[in-house]
Amino acid sequence: MPSVIAIANQKGGVGKTTTAVNLAACLGSLGKRALLIDMDAQANCTSGLGFEKTPNESLYPVLLGESSLEEQIKETEYECVSLIPSEFDLCAAEVELARMSFDTKSDNPDRHLNWFKEALEPIVKGQRFDVVLIDCPPSLGKLTLSVLIAAHHLLIPLQCEYYPLEGISSITDLMEQLKSSGVNKKLELIGVLMTMFDSRTNLSRMVVGEVRQHFGDKVFWTVIPRATRVAESPSHGKPILYYDPYSAGSAAYEVAAGELIKRLDLD
Ligand code: ATP
Ligand code: MG
Repeated sequence: MPSVIAIANQKGGVGKTTTAVNLAACLGSLGKRALLIDMDAQANCTSGLGFEKTPNESLYPVLLGESSLEEQIKETEYECVSLIPSEFDLCAAEVELARMSFDTKSDNPDRHLNWFKEALEPIVKGQRFDVVLIDCPPSLGKLTLSVLIAAHHLLIPLQCEYYPLEGISSITDLMEQLKSSGVNKKLELIGVLMTMFDSRTNLSRMVVGEVRQHFGDKVFWTVIPRATRVAESPSHGKPILYYDPYSAGSAAYEVAAGELIKRLDLD
């Protein structure tokens, strides 16, 4: 049974997508079969793996009941990495989910909450993947909520900048609420990953210290450095492991993937 990991933080630009793409590639290279799901209409995971945004190739037709989730899986050129891409239509998903939540005549009134969990069920029960990583949009809207209802684990990327903890309780409180209400008892914080660490500044060190004080062992020992090569690689449609395998960014994501495997008890 694969581990289903939501990569989420309602704050924008903290490294969610970079982490999702690069962890998927590194997990794959370590022999863990990874399914990366792009749940953001910005489709940055999709282009980051070298795919074009193509109408109907996303979870939107799955939400509408016109396709199964499995039908949307694409094989990538990267070892053991599969992708469910995103495209512009996924923008309409929030509206569609809101409409569904007001549909009192529906024979499945919780579908706006459970559609993703239900769609993912064959993957969760199957043997095809070891890890499912889901790149969430920068909000705590209904798409992210559907992901948190389906996930076993939450991974929060935090940028090494001023006040990275500001607003963080919104997502951790939501997680606790989903657990205590029984909506998703399984959901656990698998870790907080510090991104864009700048070794030249004291600020980065101070921020990591502050976050470790707050989250303790939940913080990954591996810290991802700020590196130009990491920022460049999506424009070449490649994870850093394939764009510049001997760079510091690549090494950091490889170590982080190893740490994730240990945390998940996958080895
Ligand atoms: P959004 O909330 O918009 O989805 P995000 O949280 O997914 O954003 P990313 O898109 O992964 O964040 O990263 C934001 C920007 O920072 C991107 O331009 C990305 O290339 C850059 N970036 C991410 N990680 C690093 C890094 N380690 N070093 C340098 N640049 C990075
Ligand atoms: Mg993103």
